[in-house]
Amino acid sequence: MTSVEPAEKLLSPVLSASWDDSRPWTLDTYLRHDGYRGLRNALAMAPDDLIALVKDSGLRGRGGAGFPTGMKWQFIPQNDGKPHYLVVNADESEPGTCKDIPLLFANPHSLIEGMIIASYAIRCDHAFIYLRGEVVPVLRRLHAAVAEAYEAGYLGKNILGSGIDLDITVHAGAGAYICGEETALLDSLEGRRGQPRLRPPFPAIAGLYACPTVVNNVESIASVPPILARGNEWFKSLGTEKSPGFTLYSLSGHVTNPGQYEAPLGITLRQLLDVSGGVRAGHRLKFWTPGGSSTPMFTDEHLDVPLDYEGVGAAGSMLGTKALQIFDETTCVVRAVTRWTEFYAHESCGKCTPCREGTYWLVQLLKRVEAGQGVPGDLEKLLDIADNINGKSFCALGDGAASPIVSSLQHFRAEYEQHLSERRCPFDPAASTVWA
Ligand code: NAD
Ligand code: SF4
Repeated sequence: MTSVEPAEKLLSPVLSASWDDSRPWTLDTYLRHDGYRGLRNALAMAPDDLIALVKDSGLRGRGGAGFPTGMKWQFIPQNDGKPHYLVVNADESEPGTCKDIPLLFANPHSLIEGMIIASYAIRCDHAFIYLRGEVVPVLRRLHAAVAEAYEAGYLGKNILGSGIDLDITVHAGAGAYICGEETALLDSLEGRRGQPRLRPPFPAIAGLYACPTVVNNVESIASVPPILARGNEWFKSLGTEKSPGFTLYSLSGHVTNPGQYEAPLGITLRQLLDVSGGVRAGHRLKFWTPGGSSTPMFTDEHLDVPLDYEGVGAAGSMLGTKALQIFDETTCVVRAVTRWTEFYAHESCGKCTPCREGTYWLVQLLKRVEAGQGVPGDLEKLLDIADNINGKSFCALGDGAASPIVSSLQHFRAEYEQHLSERRCPFDPAASTVWA
């Protein structure tokens, strides 16, 4: 890919290919788009060969961490006499992240087909979808799609005459961000308060009901059927060597045409801005996030960094959820970071002290700095608290909360200092009344 190619050629619609059709969520539409062909190919293979094929495809988890999907499936012990479970993490909640929910709304059968393939591979006969509870229309759509799949013989007993059985349970959470952390999700699914468990053991060894469990993101699982239908060579022809394939990016904020854009991994923000009409008219890019607010913020210096697990990763971050939040020069960076930090403080589950206490104190300090009431030493205190959270918290939520503090001070320290020296927010002087 180069920036001289026509903008639309940069896109690679696969999961989103049918989204503009009439009623794309129905089984009929899905079948018209070659749906369930990947499943038929998968059922003709032995489970271990299927795992090897997905491993060889290089598919990496699309939930944020980029862990190799086939390797995760391979961790499930065989002949252990225990039930195996597949749990799909559909609790998408990272700020700015909006790709699994639209995918489920528009194309739920891509997930169901992927779940049948994955369950067959790991020898599971009961799989779960843990959906973010607030999105009731998606819950209804999932229930309807699962019912359609049962009716058509893709779920239940003896799927397509293969001798394979699978039941899918759709479960709606109650809207806690921490329940997107895989072990908190499992606790919640078991009926307990969702709080992270100590890892190891990883869910692959002791997951749902202490049994071997694969927890995969919606997009990861939905990406499997096209791989089975079209083959690894095709999949690897997209993306980069170590981050192959297509993926869904969500663009939001000060961009002309926000929304979901499906493109190969390794595309750059500059290219995605070309496709999406650029930063809103008359304005220029100030900062952006590659993967929601728990990845470090970037600036216009990073417009050409490849959005994959090596490019963005090498720049000291991770690609995360591919939630590209775009902010122009009218945005107060202190205000943006304060809002994110308030979110993390609110969503902290309280299990460990660095995150529970640290996010609270970060919010107090940020609010007074933003309101022009900060005092000398506040910026050092912010960095000190972030340092005491980062790497010292029980789960990734703490690290995520520290990340925007550190990166915003790295790129925009002068703007923080301006709040201190002018004793007001330079973007919104009235903000000084907000905190007092
Ligand atoms: P992680 O790197 O610790 O683990 C990734 C996956 O690999 C997990 O499923 C884990 O069980 C598995 N794994 C890792 N090492 C293993 C091993 N040795 N044996 C067996 N399995 C192993 O990441 P994480 O803490 O699970 O997730 C953090 C990510 O979540 C971040 O990258 C963030 O972007 C993302 N996130 C996403 C959302 C969202 O809304 N989609 C919200 C918050 C965070
Ligand atoms: Fe809970 Fe935060 Fe600790 Fe994670 S880091 S266990 S969310 S208190």
